[in-house]
Parts: sequence; C-alpha cells; structure tokens
Amino acid sequence: MSSILAIIICLLALFTQSQSLSSPTVCIIGSGIAGSSLAHFLRSYSPPNSPPSAARILLFERNGIVGGRMATVTISGETFEAGASILHPMNYHASNFTKLLNLKRRIPPTSMSSFSLGIWNGNKFVFKTLTFEFKNPFVQKIVSFANSLYMLLRYGFSLFKMNSFVEVTVNKFLKYYQSFETRPTFETVDEMLQWAGLYNLTTCTLQEELVNVALSPLLIQELVTVITRINYGQSVYISGLAGAVSLAGSGGGLWSIEGGNWQMASGLINRSDIELHLHEEILSIFNLGESYELNSTKGRSYMCEVTAIATPLDELNIQFTPPISIPERQLQHTHATFVRGLLNPGYFGLQTVSEIPELVGTIEDPDLPFSSISILKRHNETDMTYKVFSRKAMPDSLLDNIFSVRKETIRIDWGAYPHYKAPEVFAPFILDGQHLYYVNAFENAASTMETSAVAAENVARLILSRLFGEVSLSTSYFMSSFSDDELLHAEL
Ligand SMILES: Cc1cc2nc3c(=O)[nH]c(=O)nc-3n(C[C@H](O)[C@H](O)[C@H](O)COP(=O)(O)OP(=O)(O)OC[C@H]3O[C@@H](n4cnc5c(N)ncnc54)[C@H](O)[C@@H]3O)c2cc1C
Repeated sequence: MSSILAIIICLLALFTQSQSLSSPTVCIIGSGIAGSSLAHFLRSYSPPNSPPSAARILLFERNGIVGGRMATVTISGETFEAGASILHPMNYHASNFTKLLNLKRRIPPTSMSSFSLGIWNGNKFVFKTLTFEFKNPFVQKIVSFANSLYMLLRYGFSLFKMNSFVEVTVNKFLKYYQSFETRPTFETVDEMLQWAGLYNLTTCTLQEELVNVALSPLLIQELVTVITRINYGQSVYISGLAGAVSLAGSGGGLWSIEGGNWQMASGLINRSDIELHLHEEILSIFNLGESYELNSTKGRSYMCEVTAIATPLDELNIQFTPPISIPERQLQHTHATFVRGLLNPGYFGLQTVSEIPELVGTIEDPDLPFSSISILKRHNETDMTYKVFSRKAMPDSLLDNIFSVRKETIRIDWGAYPHYKAPEVFAPFILDGQHLYYVNAFENAASTMETSAVAAENVARLILSRLFGEVSLSTSYFMSSFSDDELLHAEL
C-alpha cells in the first residue's frame, strides 16, 4: 500500500514538474530595451508543440515608467532624449521593433555629419568645420561637402582607414541577424563574440587597434577622442570593440524614434502579454532548486522557474542565495546637463554666439570640465536648448561661466555604461548553471540599445532551448522580420 502511495506521489511530482516546465513562470528584472525585447522574443519564438503564450511572464521595474536608459527629459515644456538617443542605420532589431510597433523614425539634428563641429582644447578650437546658418538644403549640401574636404585636409587618408575599421566591425556584427540554421545559441559572451570574429577586439584598446591599422596620431588625439568622449564618456583606451561601436555611432544615417526611444520598450511590453510590476524593485533572489523566489520592495514574493536579470548588476544590491560570482565592473557615470538659454561666446574666446559650433567636442585633458556641448534645439538666435555631457557634475558657478543666459537647467547623473578596460572579462549569460540568466553580461562588449536587444534575443533562445531540450525553434518570426534588403545586407 505504502509503495503504491509513493509511486502516486512520484507521478504527481513528475506531472507538476513537467506542467511547470511546459508553462513556466519567467521573471524578468528591468524594463529597458533588454528586458522588454527579451519578453518579446520569448513570446515570438515558440518551441515545437507549445503555443507561444505558454509561459507566464512577470516583468519588474523599480521606476514608475518603462524604458530604463531610454528616457526623455522635458525642459521648458519641450521633450528631448535624455539617455540613449541615436540608432545606427543597421540596428535591425530596433528597426524591426519600430515597424512592428508603428513608430515613426526621426533624423536627429545632432548627428555629427549634419552639424558644425568644433574641437575645443580648453584654450582654443584646434579644429572647426564651417558654420553656415542658411538652411537651404542645397547650400547645406555644399557646406557639408566643403566640411568633408576640410576634414580630409586635416586628417588625410586616415579618415578612410577609420571608416574601413568601423565597416569591417559592423559587418561582423551583422552575423547576429543570421537565421537559426546558421547561427548557434551562445551560453557565454566570449563564445558569442568569438563566433562573430569580434572577441579579439575586446582584448586590446581602441588606441592599439587604430595604431595597428595605421591611423594618424592626430586623428586619434582629436576626432576619435571627441567621439569616444561623447558616446562613452571615456578616452581612446576603451576596448577596441566598444570603440568601434562608438565610432559607428558618429556616422551618417543615424536615427531615433519620434516622441522618444522608450516607446520601443513600452510597445514591446504592451504586445507581449506580460504582467508588468512598476515601482517594484527586486531585493533578493533565492534558488530553491526547482524555482527561484524573488522578493520585492513591496514585501511580496514571487516563484519563478526562470529568472532573467536585464539590468547591469554593478551598482545594485540584489542579494543572491546562494551567492553568484561575476567579474567586478565599474560603471562610467555621465552627467547630462540640459540648459535652456544661450552659450557665452567669451568662454570660448569668441565674439558672437553664431561662431560657436553646434557641436563642441573636447580632447582628453583632466582639466576640461565637460566632454561635449551640443544644440538640441535652436528656438531663435538668442534662445536655445543645449545638452552638456561631463564626467563630473557641472556646478552652477561653472555653468554661469559657460552660459550667458540660463533660463532652466536639468541635471541627470547616469550610471551610463561599463567603464571599458581591455582585456575585457565577461560575466556568463547563465549565472548559476541553472535558470538564472544575465542579459547585460554582453554590455562589457559594447553598450547600445541594439546590443542589448541582440543579447536579449540570444538569451531568449537560450532559455527556451534549455527548458525544452535541444529543440529547433520556430524561425518564422526571425525570417519574416527583416526585409529582403536588410537580409541582403546581413549576408554581406
Ligand atoms: C547618456 C547616455 C547616452 C547613451 N546614448 C546611446 C545612444 O545614443 N545609442 C545607443 O544605442 N545607446 C546609448 N546609450 C546606451 C543605452 O542607453 C544602453 O546600452 C541601453 O539602453 C541599455 O538597456 P538595458 O535594457 O540593457 O538597461 P537599462 O535601460 O538600464 O534597463 C534596466 C532597467 O532595470 C531597472 N532595474 C534595475 N534594478 C532593478 C531591480 N532590482 N528591480 C527592478 N528593476 C530594476 C532599471 O530601473 C532600468 O529601468 C546611452 C546611455 C546613456 C546613459
């Protein structure tokens, strides 16, 4: 009798386990592009014989809004991107989300190719492109052509070498858009980078990589430095891969989403049948064997068969039991200061505001108090909205020197991206050998909206394949996502 009871209990346990595995609860921590796209890919990729909506997905966000580092700021009633602002023309996941969610593309006015640029060394502009305020598109084209020639005169053919370095890297990155038949699922970031031929770029600094391809020291000290300072708040001693991504973010064809990039996260969350828990921070994660217990600031507990962390862990205090071990990593803080007012030409040794370039970049010098100043909007000749990036907070006394008029100032201190340090050491995607995942392990390769989506896509496949065994996931979503033109590029 007792043996029959034992068999029934075993069968019941097996039934419950297979039930929970076929319709597991997946808990995602973080509602930025990583968390929202992970939810989206989990819903889009269904394992065979299982409907896509089988999993229950819970998404936790400590803030009252979704989007994370995709956020806007409103200054004097106008809204601008406060964090992640630009997308590359070959950011195919972002492009696909935009189409899927019926969002509108916008060409930001701050792309380097369309702006007058000045490189400031603290005393003078060491390089300045032509500033021409006539907004006739034909005249603008001529000015842009003249500026290209002007750049060529200063930096020579090194400019082409720089572009080719970026192009080679971008083409390798495009491998992550290949179909499932030719693209494996990766358990580690190292493996994922090695497969695309990108790993070696994380073992050297950008400076070393660029010297290897014979870039002139002047170009590295000036233009390249300006770009890495704007995009990652760091010098050319960041890793080669982060550097190449940063350089790619200064080319042509850049875009953003009308009304704010955060709408990608909100749109993906809305269409993915998710239980969204806003204002709920996860404080601790206990591995109970078959599931994880998550405890939140609201005093609630959640049981999840799968837990995915979609936020950098570096400045968080989530308590893990048993403890997890990941390489120590610092975040680079970028202070974004938004000012409605007018720059002071005297600060730059100039007579008039119109002589100040629309984008002021800086070289590497510890005494320089800012990395860049750019015009976000020209309301009229004496009233503009600016964005200042700096490594330290900008005190009022300093801003009063740089600006002659300051109607409104908003400051944001971002724990912005990893402090890149070659050779990079990567945390694993699977933190405990079971079902605890870390999407932002990939951020040590490069930090962008697209790289977060690429990492999330891989983690979604990893979760499904590890839950349901070695299954070939439906590729219908992936294959139909990109237009023929895009796939053609991806195969290049
Ligand atoms: C100033 C700045 C400029 C940038 N510019 C660009 C750019 O132009 N182009 C580009 O592609 N990228 C840019 N980036 C980088 C880009 O923003 C990031 O790589 C990307 O947005 C990261 O998304 P994520 O979802 O991985 O992380 P995040 O967006 O940081 O999302 C993580 C979320 O998790 C939440 N969270 C954290 N801990 C908990 C917890 N315990 N419980 C619940 N919720 C939690 C956070 O509140 C956050 O909402 C920029 C970043 C900054 C800061």
